[in-house]
Amino acid sequence: MNIHEYQGKALLKSFGVAVQEGIVAESPEKAVEAAKLLKIQTGTGWWVVKAQIHAGGRGKGKIQGTEQRGVALAKSLEDVQTISGNILGNMLVTLQTGEKGKKVNKVLIAQDVYYPGETPTKEFYMSVLLDRAKGRNTIVYSTEGGMDIETVAHNTPQLIFKEEIDPKVGLRDFQCRKVAFNLGLSGEAFKQMTKFVASLYKAYEATDSSMFEINPVLKTSDNKIIAVDSKVSLDNNSLFRHPDLASLRDVTEEDPTEVEAGEHDLNYVKLDGNVGCMVNGAGLAMATMDIIKLSGGDPANFLDVGGTANAARVEQAFRIILKDKNVKAILVNIFGGIVRCDRVAQGIVDAYKNMGNINVPIIIRLQGTNAIEAKKIIDESGLKVYSAITLQEAADLVKKVVS
Ligand code: GDP
Ligand code: MN
Repeated sequence: MNIHEYQGKALLKSFGVAVQEGIVAESPEKAVEAAKLLKIQTGTGWWVVKAQIHAGGRGKGKIQGTEQRGVALAKSLEDVQTISGNILGNMLVTLQTGEKGKKVNKVLIAQDVYYPGETPTKEFYMSVLLDRAKGRNTIVYSTEGGMDIETVAHNTPQLIFKEEIDPKVGLRDFQCRKVAFNLGLSGEAFKQMTKFVASLYKAYEATDSSMFEINPVLKTSDNKIIAVDSKVSLDNNSLFRHPDLASLRDVTEEDPTEVEAGEHDLNYVKLDGNVGCMVNGAGLAMATMDIIKLSGGDPANFLDVGGTANAARVEQAFRIILKDKNVKAILVNIFGGIVRCDRVAQGIVDAYKNMGNINVPIIIRLQGTNAIEAKKIIDESGLKVYSAITLQEAADLVKKVVS
């Protein structure tokens, strides 16, 4: 689960990570109030207005149809009001949002931290994630912050460093110093960086996160090390241990159909094709999508109904699949292992009759315990459904009905 920049910064701050201070606002008027308050709290004379969406690249992205960037410097309270007005309620298009963009409901009014001073500012990159191949948490960092890290990795891979953490002993002090050293820091900034790394890692572990990405980490002109941006991804599988973090979810950032599916414990991911899929088990769902592709079709979704494919769940799954107007046919592929196929078949017939308005062809393939009895139930139901025993038969039927 992803959270907003302002939420990520609050979380980091609670673990002692120094961050660019800010206050979130939902209207231009509130944005001005936030700016005034921030001036009192931090002494800042300039502000940055930052669109809060679950996507990066905001600094380069533009509000649809305008020249307004998603992150912009405001040198006066009037600027804060104008920029917030330009951004709020509108669609922000960045490299990560797709052409349609994402609607901005909140802006973060942050203190300007790039002010001139004793020493030049410097932007670094830092992330914490699990290296699955090594089975270890890893801190990835670079002197080349503030820009697209994939580009840095491609053009200058030697400028990306990695520090692996041994789970038996955790992050050691010398490792924090090594990071600060590799980033070319000295004096006060060096000390600040070791503290930054240690508290960042502590936050990562304590929250069971799956990824932190701080780009840029900034060395200010007065040698503070602070998080200017924060991308925090929490691990959904550990949210039950962190109800406070679970409440940070913003469902308006997610696909509405996927949210609804989640509420019914259906594992649904929308795709761009026209063949709806209803399958039990994630592996079988992947295989089903493959065979649809191989037969020249295009899956409209991934949907795992789980182990108990009873009538209520099947009906809910049909409803979710049919919300997608691209769907021209539905392939139901259920393996009856613990569930008996005839029960599932009856469930499908009941759900179909209950819904009454299904007007796309349905191809049903039930395999496993009592598959023959199941086929009989489907064939004798009088419904406009096609039944198949093998997956290939099913795929051929799909091809026939959509072409
Ligand atoms: P992203 O584009 O979505 O990754 O958003 P960031 O939070 O990383 O901000 C984008 C860029 O805005 C940063 O790389 C900085 O160059 C710039 N920026 C962020 N905060 C400030 C600030 O306080 N002052 C100035 N002048 N620029 C800032
Ligand atoms: Mn960034």
